[in-house]
Amino acid sequence: MLYWKSIGSSQANANLGTMKALQFTGGELRLAEIDRPEAADESLVRVVKSGICNTDVEIVRGYAGFEGTIGHEFVGVVEESADKPELVGKRVVGEINVGCGKCERCAKGDPRHCAQRTVLGIKGRNGAHAEFLRLPVRNLVHVPDGVADEQAVFVEPLAAAFGITEQVEIGPDTSVAVIGDGKLGLLCAFAMSLRTQNLIIVGKHEEKLELAEARDIEAVWLPTIGKFEPVFDVVIEASGSESGFATALDMVKPLGKIVLKSTFSGKPQWEAWRVVVDEITIVGSRCGRFEPALKLLDERKIDLSDMISAEMPLSKGVEAMAEAQKKGVMKVLLTM
Ligand SMILES: [Zn+2]
Ligand SMILES: [Zn+2]
Repeated sequence: MLYWKSIGSSQANANLGTMKALQFTGGELRLAEIDRPEAADESLVRVVKSGICNTDVEIVRGYAGFEGTIGHEFVGVVEESADKPELVGKRVVGEINVGCGKCERCAKGDPRHCAQRTVLGIKGRNGAHAEFLRLPVRNLVHVPDGVADEQAVFVEPLAAAFGITEQVEIGPDTSVAVIGDGKLGLLCAFAMSLRTQNLIIVGKHEEKLELAEARDIEAVWLPTIGKFEPVFDVVIEASGSESGFATALDMVKPLGKIVLKSTFSGKPQWEAWRVVVDEITIVGSRCGRFEPALKLLDERKIDLSDMISAEMPLSKGVEAMAEAQKKGVMKVLLTM
């Protein structure tokens, strides 16, 4: 394919080039050769590794109506940064919500709910399954030397899991059940185990539940359960399945809390009247802050090396997405 663009200055010439990116466009997932982004008023990051998330899979199924480069979990190295040149050459991860910088929420330093936000690889902004990405410098968080790339790439989902503690008080006496033994469910269980030992994880996959048992978390294999008793203070729904919400209602105590973590494109069936009668609080929970999650990794409070099922080159991105959806497969990483 002929690539041609008229360039006015030598500065622009330096940015000329294309890159590989895993894109979802026109209902199709493909490895594309697209223009390398320019830093402009943001920072240009060379992606080192990215992680395939269930949200990527959901996007390809139509969730969020996103088109462009998918991927939002990454570790990379800053190549250019107009605002903060001292970041160049530094290893970073990046918070995925980019706010307008002007509204009330942004002024408080939290763009996660800015109405004008773009979200890396999810909403209005090309994502991380590419050789380069751009993000504002305020989104970038320097990765301490002690945290390997293979761990740092988990910061986004780990922050999402640990972010539950920002929303719901979890103390040593809080009884918590996590529904779902996929990547997010396990990360939620690992994060909650730092706050309470009164914890179980419920799932359908024995080999995945073993990852929880290896961390002394009580694992319950769903097929062995006839009926749950409503005995948990907090139930975290992270199964990504439509039945998860109903199961959460079966397990939560009256006056308890259900935390919803799954993003899926379906429409769950649930008995809303029970929420009223038992006065259940339902908490939607999406993204967490990166700093506390990075600290957990740096202090070795959490080790995620056994969560990686495969590492594949970006050039095999389409195959990697298929691999990530296979039964029993945990995190699939892309290497650029
Ligand atoms: Zn994710
Ligand atoms: Zn804003």
